[in-house]
Amino acid sequence: MQHIIDRFISYVTIDTESDPNSPTTPSTAKQWDLANKLVEELKAMGMQDVTIDEHAYIMATLPSNVEHEVPTIGFVSHFDTTPDFTGANVKPQIVENYDGGDIILNKEQNIVLSPNYFEDLLLYKGQTLITTDGTTLLGADDKAGITEIMSAMEYLIQHPEIKHGKIRVGFTPDEEIGRGAHKFDVEKFGCDWAYTMDGSQIGELEYENFNAAGVKVTFKGKSVHPGYAKGKMINSMLLANQFISKLPKKEVPQKTKDYEGFFHVTDIAGSIEETTVSLIIRDHSMKKFTKRKEFIHKLTKKMNKKWAKQFGEDIVITEIKDQYFNMKEKVKPVFHIVEIAEKAMKELGITPIIKPIRGGTDGSQLSYMGLPCPNIFAGGHNFHGKYEYVPVESMVKATEVIVKIAELTAKKDQ
Ligand SMILES: [Zn+2]
Repeated sequence: MQHIIDRFISYVTIDTESDPNSPTTPSTAKQWDLANKLVEELKAMGMQDVTIDEHAYIMATLPSNVEHEVPTIGFVSHFDTTPDFTGANVKPQIVENYDGGDIILNKEQNIVLSPNYFEDLLLYKGQTLITTDGTTLLGADDKAGITEIMSAMEYLIQHPEIKHGKIRVGFTPDEEIGRGAHKFDVEKFGCDWAYTMDGSQIGELEYENFNAAGVKVTFKGKSVHPGYAKGKMINSMLLANQFISKLPKKEVPQKTKDYEGFFHVTDIAGSIEETTVSLIIRDHSMKKFTKRKEFIHKLTKKMNKKWAKQFGEDIVITEIKDQYFNMKEKVKPVFHIVEIAEKAMKELGITPIIKPIRGGTDGSQLSYMGLPCPNIFAGGHNFHGKYEYVPVESMVKATEVIVKIAELTAKKDQ
């Protein structure tokens, strides 16, 4: 267990925050610091074909140690951390034999990690937790995943008696800014399927996510002196307000859960002359997702029709861009890849928690790029902030799940 703690800490103490405003890949140069270290470690532990490309995508191979044909499987994690909260100068704290009470993260600033608010903590009574010092995020998302994949590969190399097929490892930059899969060379990776180790609580296994689209609506107004505006002025902000008020009031993030989709207004910027409204559309069902997009188009049409005479041209301009799709469509035809993960967990005494993701993962993009890719727990909680923590026991279990999946995939009766 100490080995896994040391490894994890050596990763999270390297700042790898990504930056959505950067056009380069990786989006920040500092991501190379950890990327280069991972390459060295992969080589040192005896992995084969260790490569890093000009965008810092890392791949490596653990060759098969059996004679018979076995599908090639992959394990994928990302080494960047979210720009939502600082990841510089992470000072992890280790809480041994957690007693179920409050954990003081930072005495001076009175920052407390409490089970009264974060009830999940109580699942880990008696375990070893790694927390922040209350001033940064931890980076268990997703350096826990990297730690687990590294540890599992090391274990398999040291235990050749465990039989497995060819295994590929992939580490990516920039997942947190939605670009982790963008430059991932699926063909070079060469796997029949893969798993992202990027979930949260122990047991999580996910193969359904949202279909997602981004919408930008521009409203064009007409500015006239307010004293002489009667019948002439068109205030684009009021048009935007009308538009928003027509969206279904109960279908918003704060009123939906499980498989319920939504419209979510994310930004408004306006003046009399022009107002833009940004919103996102999310739905697990492709049918409902398409309907939601149609609803926006219909609303646009209706408003344009109403104002056509006075303005002489369309005053509402709508652009809808698909962002990602539900990986379920791509995973269902090869459902054994979920079943193997489920079986691996059960054999290790872990209860699988299978639920739809209310978001997307790199795996959803990869699935549509030809690499079916469900998501498995990495063990951390409270991602993207100072309350992030990870139980070491969950990281150990995730490592065992990887080893077990490798073993099960190579079994002849699978
Ligand atoms: Zn992540």
